[in-house]
Amino acid sequence: MATDTRPHSRACGIRKHDHGPDCHSNCPSCGGVAQPPDLMAALAASFGRGQAHTFVGERGDTTVSVKLRDVYFAVLEGLRLASGADTVDQIDLEGVDEIAVAQNTCVAIEQVVGIYPNVRRD
Ligand SMILES: [Zn+2]
Ligand SMILES: [Zn+2]
Repeated sequence: MATDTRPHSRACGIRKHDHGPDCHSNCPSCGGVAQPPDLMAALAASFGRGQAHTFVGERGDTTVSVKLRDVYFAVLEGLRLASGADTVDQIDLEGVDEIAVAQNTCVAIEQVVGIYPNVRRD
């Protein structure tokens, strides 16, 4: 996987290889153990890159540090907004746009970390 920039062990040798069974058991990143598939990378690849102001574009390259609790509530807020419900317990998933959920979730996270709207104006 080209996106995996974790270091190899010198004992791995100079031949290009992915982390996993091809690595030496001294590899600091994987120890030579098979790696789980990178589900996020596969999903991102299926979407491709979007315009700069979108979360699959440059805007989504932003690294943030949030508590998992914030992610938890951001997902619920994303669902709530995308469904048009007033409260979380009124959310009806019927007909909810999954892309709107993802976008609203990311916006909620931007608001938590104080970078919303996170769009360059130039
Ligand atoms: Zn490795
Ligand atoms: Zn290696």
